[in-house]
Amino acid sequence: MTWQTLRRTADREGTARAASPPKSATEPETAPAADPRAGGILQLQRTHGNAFVQRLRAEGDDRLLRKGKPREKTDEEKAEEAAQAALPHRLVLINEADPAKKQMSDAVAPSYRDFVAEVKELTGRDLGTGFGDTVRGLGGATEKVGADTVSWHKTARTVDVNQDLPWVLLDAPANGRQYFTLYLRHKDADAEEQPGLVTRFPKETKFYHNGDGGKVRKYPYVNVSAIAAKHGWTPIPAQPGWEKTYTKREWWHFENRGGNSWYQSLAEIYTERQIVAGIQGFAKGAAGANQYGARLQREGVPDDVLAKIFPKVKQGNLALHLPVGEGGANLADDVAAVQEALILAGHLAGPATGAMDPATLAAIRAFQASRKAAASGVIAVADPIHRALGAVKPAGESPKKPAAPKPPAKTPAAPPPPTVPATPSP
Ligand SMILES: [Zn+2]
Repeated sequence: MTWQTLRRTADREGTARAASPPKSATEPETAPAADPRAGGILQLQRTHGNAFVQRLRAEGDDRLLRKGKPREKTDEEKAEEAAQAALPHRLVLINEADPAKKQMSDAVAPSYRDFVAEVKELTGRDLGTGFGDTVRGLGGATEKVGADTVSWHKTARTVDVNQDLPWVLLDAPANGRQYFTLYLRHKDADAEEQPGLVTRFPKETKFYHNGDGGKVRKYPYVNVSAIAAKHGWTPIPAQPGWEKTYTKREWWHFENRGGNSWYQSLAEIYTERQIVAGIQGFAKGAAGANQYGARLQREGVPDDVLAKIFPKVKQGNLALHLPVGEGGANLADDVAAVQEALILAGHLAGPATGAMDPATLAAIRAFQASRKAAASGVIAVADPIHRALGAVKPAGESPKKPAAPKPPAKTPAAPPPPTVPATPSP
């Protein structure tokens, strides 16, 4: 949250509270000062509540709280400032002349400007303005059809180009997915054809979309997709269901990953602390862990960062960051904790290794079967199987005694059940 947003929030909350009578004993009795800073922390607590002040502190923004001498920065704050200063890239305006002031990472802005210049040279059209989405906030969850919460728009290496130009689109399916090739009319009616770049469409051409009417048979057209590719900007496939839903067609979307993973691209413009807080904006608690953990791991989020995003959730004696088993994120300390519990439960021979393997997968399935649960092979965070496994006690121990430190390998409580062979996943 920026200083400006905080200030707006403060002003808005102040106005709202001043306009309505106190609702409860915890509501402030006094009207807020015009400038919340005027009265310092005590005044802020009165007018905005303690939670608001706590939030300012948590965000490390002391400007609303400061009165008189600025306080000394903590070591943590200094480290964060240094981390921000050391980031290799930052957001810049794509085009100084764009009235919408859209931004992208300076890692890719030069290549995008080169693409724009070449398209303009050949077509007279300006793809440096009229954008749809460009960079999106990291923390936002999105309900919009066609938009993805783990989106490359969040990396600032993506643009949705102006859809309102007289585009001519051809179907260009590849690898079983739907893509489109984008054309704009050449500014010179007599332009020579150039293979792969300047084309006169043959009569039999079937257009996916013709935004240029009858001219399309008379003039030369420029392959804008080819120019984009030359500068490192590639399309993404249309999403399933694109035939019926316009927003899933994605023909306007270009991104320049530069060989990075999603996480590597984020880490160019955000500190680890900002990434953790940002992802927690859409992936929270057990539900977030189950929905996003493995996906984020596939997008390159390192395991130690995943562990910070998703603090352990404890059920009985078993605490987990993320799902364990088939398709789970399988963080090493999660796997070790599950293995220890399975050993206690008599479903696995020790020792716990922290590495997911066929024996552990089989033991998870066997434990699920013993609890009459579907043998999915995965333990989701805070699901009934997590609870059941957290409640397992070693044989002969009193229910109160914590089970953790006991080396379980030497005291097999029960003979292991017949091993179910792990079915390899596709
Ligand atoms: Zn897009």
